[in-house]
Amino acid sequence: MLSAAQIKEIARKAGADKCGIAPISRMKDAPAEMNPTYLFPNCRSIVGFVFRIPRGVQRGIEEGTQFYQYPSMAYGGINEILAPATLYHVGKAIEDEGYEAVVYRNTGARGCVSDMDGSKDAKLSPEEQIEVSENAKDSTAHHRSVDFTRATRPGENVPPDLQFQFRICAVACGLGEIGWSKMLLTPEFGPLQRVAFLFTDAEFDEYDEIYHGKPLCRKCGACVRECPGHCIPDLKSGKTCTATIGDYKMEWGDIDMWKCYAFYTHAGRYFNPFVPKEVWDENKNGDLDLMEGKAQASEQEIMKVYRALAKYFPSWVGYNMAKCGGCIRACVSMLEKPGGCMHGRFKNPLRTRAKAWKMDR
Ligand code: SF4
Ligand code: SF4
Repeated sequence: MLSAAQIKEIARKAGADKCGIAPISRMKDAPAEMNPTYLFPNCRSIVGFVFRIPRGVQRGIEEGTQFYQYPSMAYGGINEILAPATLYHVGKAIEDEGYEAVVYRNTGARGCVSDMDGSKDAKLSPEEQIEVSENAKDSTAHHRSVDFTRATRPGENVPPDLQFQFRICAVACGLGEIGWSKMLLTPEFGPLQRVAFLFTDAEFDEYDEIYHGKPLCRKCGACVRECPGHCIPDLKSGKTCTATIGDYKMEWGDIDMWKCYAFYTHAGRYFNPFVPKEVWDENKNGDLDLMEGKAQASEQEIMKVYRALAKYFPSWVGYNMAKCGGCIRACVSMLEKPGGCMHGRFKNPLRTRAKAWKMDR
């Protein structure tokens, strides 16, 4: 048995801003192809890590002046450097005690089910943006690389690479709750964090409870209003997704994930300063119908958008540019107001103007 306090201290010193530990039994109802017990059948415990996103990496997006720091620092930097280094250090400490540490950094597009809609036949993933390269000229950009994955012991396990639901796992570890926008909210950092996990056969002297404090999501609807693609349903729409861990029920807005895929990278005519107005006006072949509100989101429509806007798409860090930033900044702005969990954290608010910017065109 390991000391939870000691492992948390090691995690903190290694770079995590918060750490929660849960028995693996909390994930027992996860579908097989997303269930970590298939990954590590002897697993007893999950260690969840929170890495906060500095609010300042959103500053350029908030001002409409700089869009590079968020994907490079808050996606790439945390996913590729900070979190793996922390997992490595904590994993070593656990293995020094004779237990195994199965580390799991943030990665997408690897599971046998789509990370977009959970289906088995979806071919696209935002995480495969890296496929848009010289080597991929003749193949479909954004194609999931694991389209042909097969179970290695048919009937006994699930196809690699097993990908579980990070946000539900974070809730299981007591780190926070899922807000209406589907973002993980924590009492300390609101929506500003990324997470990583470690599975171990060690048991701990104490486990964190699922968060039952004051609701973190204010059900304010700011994320709904500020999403450039109107991808998040209205709070009163009845369009929800639910999941349970034992008696604990989670509910969030049933976001149009395919539409979000197109909008968070391309943002639309009013929120993408890298695409000339004429391109939106011309809407050649109707390729931008989805972005102009004239077509429903689908893989086909998204491919049209990506092909049409490929040359305007700066993605130098291998991560999508997340130009919209709408839901996350809206949420921070609301949670910083009195009564919100981020109230008082900063001397000045994220939003210093009455409204977020919108291009006049
Ligand atoms: S990431 Fe952007 S497009 Fe997606 S839901 Fe949030 S605001 Fe909307
Ligand atoms: S913006 Fe408001 S409704 Fe949306 S997730 Fe944040 S607190 Fe919840």
